[in-house]
Amino acid sequence: MKIVERPSPNSAPRPDGTVVDILVLHYTELPLQESLDILSDATREHRVSAHYVLAEEGTAYRLVPEERVAWHAGRSHWRGREALNASSIGIEIVNLDGDRHDYPHPQVAALIELCRAILARHPSIVPRNVVGHSDIAPQRKVDPGRRFPWKTLADAGIGLWPKAGERPLFGELQAALQRYGYAPPVAAPPREIVKAFQRHFRPAKVDGMPDPETRALLAGLLDRLARE
Ligand SMILES: [Zn+2]
Repeated sequence: MKIVERPSPNSAPRPDGTVVDILVLHYTELPLQESLDILSDATREHRVSAHYVLAEEGTAYRLVPEERVAWHAGRSHWRGREALNASSIGIEIVNLDGDRHDYPHPQVAALIELCRAILARHPSIVPRNVVGHSDIAPQRKVDPGRRFPWKTLADAGIGLWPKAGERPLFGELQAALQRYGYAPPVAAPPREIVKAFQRHFRPAKVDGMPDPETRALLAGLLDRLARE
């Protein structure tokens, strides 16, 4: 794939001893050029960046080297940890609204190639730790959106995709979501956490209701984790 070096000054060293074990996927909400500009603007009050920006036609722009911290996650939570910039890699995928616009085929093909290379370099990024921004910041973010091809990625070995569990989910939904990795209900409104889960794993209906299908999908995921 084509990688263009486009260095951003918005980065920091990884804290000593950091293991990179999370991959966060975003959409830009903005066209390519504007995204590149904002993600390398050092004059903004809240400076932001990402390791890669992926154009619609499949070119990847490298803004921050993987050995440094990029500022893409913000306030975030996954599997009991917070402030995930330090231990993550962030990819900003050019798409103006991932709830409404499909991700074009060349972009998805390039994303799969890019993610595979990242996962090969960072074996601590287990499938469950390939997440969307909305998974780790459910009260603030909806990217990469309901049109994001999570299943296609999972079929390519990137991230997890549930089969409905054969057994029902025992116990309380929020506790089970937390077991999977989502923030505890004290950190974000419970309904927003359910919506984040649905946005990722059942995008056809994102209403925050703990219906039987949602529970079955989560049971299926937890079942897969138990067998890994
Ligand atoms: Zn984002």
